[in-house]
Parts: sequence; C-alpha cells; structure tokens
Amino acid sequence: VSKAWAGGSTYQWRKTRAQVLLSNEVSNKGLCRLQLPEVCTGKATQVHHTRGKEFGDDPAYLMAVCRACNLKVGKPMTDPPGQRLSHWD
Ligand SMILES: [Zn+2]
Repeated sequence: VSKAWAGGSTYQWRKTRAQVLLSNEVSNKGLCRLQLPEVCTGKATQVHHTRGKEFGDDPAYLMAVCRACNLKVGKPMTDPPGQRLSHWD
C-alpha cells in the first residue's frame, strides 16, 4: 500500500472496494478482470477505476484487477480530474 493510495482512501471507498472484490469472488472466482498479457498475476486484489476518478466510485465503473494490471493501466486514486484512460476509450 503506497502513501498516495492510503492518503486518497476514504471509508466509503474501502467499503465499495471490498464489495467489488467480494462480488468478483462470486462471479469470477476472484480472478483479475484485465488479464494483461505478460503482466497479470491472476488473482484480483485491487479495484481499478475504468473511467477515472471523475466518475467517482460507481460500481459500474469499477473493475476487480490484480496489482500488476492495476499499476500497468494507471493509478486509480490519483488520476487527475478529467483524465481518461486511453485503454478504455
Ligand atoms: Zn491482472
């Protein structure tokens, strides 16, 4: 857990994040949703904001991913407002 991550965390976010991971355990056997080639470690342990932070913590824009894939696509809690991740356009 980085300092940036811990500083950006809120109670609500931790709750939402836990729900996304739990639901992924049930529906996807807890596996990473991104499965990036040569990067993915398989097991989802983090939650990625697919549309960036401006969409907030809406579960529709959250995805359970492994740490390696999450780092590869971006830092979810530190995305500047308005930035979109080109991977998802
Ligand atoms: Zn992965």
